[in-house]
Amino acid sequence: MYNRIILKLSGEALAGDKDGVTFDDEIIRGLIAQIKTVLDKGTQVCLVVGGGNFWRGRSATSEMDRTKADQIGMLATVMNAIYLADSFRQAGIVARVQTPITIGTVSELFSKESAVEHMEAGRVVIFAAGIGHPFFSTDTITALRGAELDVDGLFFAKSIDGVYDDDPATNPNAKKIDVITSEDIIKNGLKVIDTAAANLCFERKIPVIIFGLNEENSIIRAVGGEKIGTIVTVS
Ligand code: UDP
Repeated sequence: MYNRIILKLSGEALAGDKDGVTFDDEIIRGLIAQIKTVLDKGTQVCLVVGGGNFWRGRSATSEMDRTKADQIGMLATVMNAIYLADSFRQAGIVARVQTPITIGTVSELFSKESAVEHMEAGRVVIFAAGIGHPFFSTDTITALRGAELDVDGLFFAKSIDGVYDDDPATNPNAKKIDVITSEDIIKNGLKVIDTAAANLCFERKIPVIIFGLNEENSIIRAVGGEKIGTIVTVS
């Protein structure tokens, strides 16, 4: 059993099929129910939330200053985190939003000590606003917070059920990879998690599990050690 995990939820994961925007409460309730099971089994949980259901910096027009576009993206992740934290509250679970930038009374400023304290008390910590700087993704902050907080594994819940050797949307013969090393991800430039995140996991020897959000009880199964999705090993 994992003692502590970090789970990355993309913005799209919260939106479901609702035109890829805002929130699908049924999906969010399902996610929270699974996280509750994981917590009840004694695993500490922190989350990183993306912002793609509202905005992604890289989708802005080329005329737009990328720094500004990414700032909007970071704020999108904060909106998601606030919504998610309140959804946890409605389910009887205490969740705290932490950001690397000060947003007054909206979130707590990240600190390793308080994040660990929350998790040890059974609270869920939701990390928003990414790394606080442009040109990064929420994958990077997942790896960074994972390393800082000594998690036993990084869990990426994706709309696709793992890593493929080619894009399954365009190549019907694309094969799912069950196990891969983070070194191979970096070497082969596979678009699984961004290179900065893969490098950090490789260096810190943190295993990564990439699995499909839409498969039944996938969070519970992945955290329970069932071999679903793709496991990025760190030998
Ligand atoms: N972002 C950023 N710095 C970070 C993390 C995120 O500037 O450290 C911005 C970036 O514009 C990104 C957006 O926030 O497109 C939302 O994050 P992401 O694209 O990772 O969300 P997801 O695709 O997982 O929903």
